[in-house]
Amino acid sequence: MVLNEAAVAGGQDNEVLLLIFAWCARCGRQERVLTVRQAAALCAVSPRTIHRWAADGKIHAVRMSEGALLVCYRSLIC
Ligand SMILES: [Zn+2]
Repeated sequence: MVLNEAAVAGGQDNEVLLLIFAWCARCGRQERVLTVRQAAALCAVSPRTIHRWAADGKIHAVRMSEGALLVCYRSLIC
């Protein structure tokens, strides 16, 4: 995973939709990614559902080096 950490504005996992870009292997390009909480809020589902979608391959999951999961914005199905 190649992460563009310079693009992380603020770096806090809060409710604000921060613009974070990371390499999505399934898109094959740098894509805007959301935290699980942001994706859950956007889709009006629980974070657990986001994790399940990621495990099922329904959305593109980008695993950060710290273990945090990010979701490829393009792959969101809501
Ligand atoms: Zn993607």
